Amino acid sequence: MIALASGASLASVLRLRSAPAVQTEFRPEKLGIALLGLGDYATNWLAPAIAQSTYGKVAGIVTGSPDKISTWQEKYSIPDSGVFNYENLEDIASNKDIDIVYIVTPTGLHHKFAIRALEAGKHVICEKPMAPTAEDCTRMIDAARKADRMLQIGYRLYWEPHHTRVMTAMRDKEFGKWESLETAFAGRMKDFDDPKNQWRIDKELGIAGALYDLGVYAVQAGFYTTQQHPIRVTATSSTDRKEIFNEVPEHWDWELEYADGRKSIHWSSYGKNGNHLKMATAEGSLEIERAYGYSGQSGVTPVGKMSFEDVFQQTRQIDGQLLAIHRRNANVVPGEMGRRDIRLINAVMESADSGKSVELGKFDY
Ligand code: NDP
Repeated sequence: MIALASGASLASVLRLRSAPAVQTEFRPEKLGIALLGLGDYATNWLAPAIAQSTYGKVAGIVTGSPDKISTWQEKYSIPDSGVFNYENLEDIASNKDIDIVYIVTPTGLHHKFAIRALEAGKHVICEKPMAPTAEDCTRMIDAARKADRMLQIGYRLYWEPHHTRVMTAMRDKEFGKWESLETAFAGRMKDFDDPKNQWRIDKELGIAGALYDLGVYAVQAGFYTTQQHPIRVTATSSTDRKEIFNEVPEHWDWELEYADGRKSIHWSSYGKNGNHLKMATAEGSLEIERAYGYSGQSGVTPVGKMSFEDVFQQTRQIDGQLLAIHRRNANVVPGEMGRRDIRLINAVMESADSGKSVELGKFDY
């Protein structure tokens, strides 16, 4: 059993580790990754990131679009034996050049593909948000445990220096107690008539629109900044453009309450813009602007401006995740973390639906 594919202890949550440094002296054979779902993120971000990584290579593809195959084969030198579709995914079991399947489909499909890939004996990296429900996440975690394979979520900010600075500062109580937190990730989207974007506002595939797609970052930040588990959530949702948003709400707002009475404010939307993390601590402000993008972060701490250069987040993420598979590093983004976040997202939905606060109970990560 790979220990880190199983449940992490509660104590580990409250001691969030900073991103592992890339260990250049360790030069094993590269692990082969098959990307499953060749859309925008896989094509323009993950595949180039893997190609530039120290520990990974693009060794296969799983796609429902035959017209994409030749370009990918040519660009990444993928042999015919590395090409699969959604029907014959199980055949990947016999391809020894593929160690990992990286799931990059619409959210509503993550769990089914992840379980099939795990049952085929491959490690899985699954894009955020992990799955529609906490029960779906549990099925994925159980499948990883049963197959003795590692399950990791594509939470790239665990390798982004501004965020890791905030995580370690708050973990080490560098600036005393936090006093307030407000964070949002939101973006006004116009092109929903493009069929490519339809899944994001489809209940089956996108589940709850911006709350899943972007709001998961504001959920995550709540955990790694406060280093606490909230006890209660109070949420609202609303829609301005009813002609577009007929299955999922356009805007989401939620407030989290902690056992000691402190509160944090979070929001996400497909109708307005927001991309920041603002925390007040006993010793001053801890903030990241353009917080959740692929680059362009700028941050401040009570002791001055953060001065980190942009990094290729996804390359660092891939190397960190592959080192975890090599057992040189911990799995800092396990399925249990993804499930924790989905549990909170589902409570946000429940509260917005009922108009009442929802008690969160005990978290197991
Ligand atoms: P796209 O719509 O661009 O691509 C999704 C791909 O999934 C499609 O191209 C298709 O690939 C495959 N697919 C399989 N079934 C379906 C279906 N029923 N409807 C639509 N597509 C289907 O989405 P993105 O690449 O932007 O997002 C994919 C995943 O990545 C999501 O989970 C998203 O949340 C996550 N993401 C993460 C980011 C991050 O920063 N971590 C950033 C952006 C996205 P094919 O044609 O090969 O079958």
